[in-house]
Amino acid sequence: MNYSEFIKKYANHPHYKAPRGSIIHAKSWQTEAPLRMLLNNLDAEVAEDPANLIVYGGTGQAARNPEAVKEIIRILLEMDENHSLLVQSGKPIGLIRSHPLAPRVLIANSNLVPAWATWEHFEELKSRGLMMYGQMTAGSWIYIGSQGILQGTFETFVECGRKYFNSDLKHKLIVSGGIGGMSGAQPLAATMTGATYLGVDVDPERIKKRLETHYIDKMTFDYNEAVKWTLEAKERGEAVSIGLVGDIGDVLEKLLNDNIIPEILTDQTSAHDPLNGYVPNGFSLEEALELRKTNPILYKEKSLKSMARHVGFMLEMQKRGSITFDYGNNLREFARQGGEEHAYDYDGFVPKFIRPLFCDGKGPFRWVALSGDPEDIFTTDRELMKLFPENEHLIKWLTEAQEKVDFQGLPSRICWLGMGEREKAGLLFNQLVREGKVKAPIVIGRDHLDCGSVASPNRETEGMLDGSDAVSDWPLLNLMANTSGGATWVSFHHGGGVGIGYSQHAGMVIVADGTNRAAENLSRVLFNDPAMGIYRHADAGYKTAIENRKKFDLNT
Ligand code: NAD
Repeated sequence: MNYSEFIKKYANHPHYKAPRGSIIHAKSWQTEAPLRMLLNNLDAEVAEDPANLIVYGGTGQAARNPEAVKEIIRILLEMDENHSLLVQSGKPIGLIRSHPLAPRVLIANSNLVPAWATWEHFEELKSRGLMMYGQMTAGSWIYIGSQGILQGTFETFVECGRKYFNSDLKHKLIVSGGIGGMSGAQPLAATMTGATYLGVDVDPERIKKRLETHYIDKMTFDYNEAVKWTLEAKERGEAVSIGLVGDIGDVLEKLLNDNIIPEILTDQTSAHDPLNGYVPNGFSLEEALELRKTNPILYKEKSLKSMARHVGFMLEMQKRGSITFDYGNNLREFARQGGEEHAYDYDGFVPKFIRPLFCDGKGPFRWVALSGDPEDIFTTDRELMKLFPENEHLIKWLTEAQEKVDFQGLPSRICWLGMGEREKAGLLFNQLVREGKVKAPIVIGRDHLDCGSVASPNRETEGMLDGSDAVSDWPLLNLMANTSGGATWVSFHHGGGVGIGYSQHAGMVIVADGTNRAAENLSRVLFNDPAMGIYRHADAGYKTAIENRKKFDLNT
């Protein structure tokens, strides 16, 4: 198939689809893999808004513009293994000379010199076509749909249940805002823990998408109906998820007036971006979208005030007994800017629930079957359960995920694995490819929400023991470690999760193509990547991380 035929079939904007099967179009799997993953990120089954190349997280894009997508495709189809492609904020810049063990693609997205790192400056550059917002896995081509955050959210709710509700979330209500790309994982994660869930999104189309993919059970436009369904389900101890169309601030106010106080309260609206993410209170969705274009300054002002009001209600619910936590969207910071002085009076989910996992080098390990055949993922699930027979938590997770998770785009899986485990799993997958037990290579990557690859003082590195929350040498070292180890593509981003100015983070993806060379690279990369988490947390003084450093022989 020549280039134009390929574009017509797989990248006819806005219709994108990754090729399936074991026949490659590029010169090797090293370049076929990023090609398929870029197209998969933009597949309508996966992306929130392919027409604007938006994958998830407000405006997180996979490439700068449709021309850039085509050019990346052309280069990946033609490139050999003695070169690497440079991508600057979603635009291909050129090739450098490298070697077969080096990454094939080197990506930098949305990075700005610190004193210029504001949404305003970013927007100005973006409007001149000079930048794009890469979020975390959008611009690094390893987004896998709502499943990507599902286990992290599940772990968070489980830990919350363990800490505050004797590990039993039956008859407990979780309330949250946002039912979009990542936030759409909350309803399913909540029901997987046995809780009842009420979620609110201002955009009905977003809730419909979650209904179609079975991430949410029911949807209504009517507050009273939502409350009736919610209270009935909670009373009966039913794990049901309900999506209500509305503004989350308004709904929290009504719940408070009706004295309906959820046991657990959080939020995952796209608050990281007060202009192109969060929708201010008092406008219909259409009016808000119009105001965004006609008067962005007023929009942002309204957005900040609405977030302050929204957080004010969350604080009131916290006072009345809700276990309240931030879920990584920087809502507290923008509420503070909007005038809520006490916005930081509730904690983020990392210090509250997740940091102990980070001290074990644990993070969201995800993989994708490039064949497109769901059976390949079921094979990896089974083999992984055999590899870790003692890990009951993992076995339970994989079994439930098989039953409850619909694949979006290329079949994929996520599970949290730590130091030692990730390397073993990677080598196992490579073996499965080598022995023909799966039909094509598998790519392995992770979110940037991870133990050793992020500096994000309102999220992953909030409240570090030694106060080093804002030190971003760590994600840079992670990038260098993964490049040195031979990941297949690496990336360094700014602003993911919490918005421009608030985070820096690194990503990696590596292909298991069944070769000895892949085994060597996998061994290095999947050792180094979690090791960075242990180094980072040991250096900050966390006792378990210091012990893990000894246990895994991570010497200086
Ligand atoms: P998204 O843009 O796909 O969805 C956000 C949803 O919020 C949209 O559907 C939007 O309609 C809704 N929304 C906006 N304002 C609202 C309001 N006032 N009331 C009700 N609904 C409103 O984004 P996403 O991918 O779901 O990500 C959500 C947020 O979570 C982002 O800020 C993202 O950066 C962050 N995030 C957190 C994690 C984590 O691990 N905690 C991971 C990824 C992303």
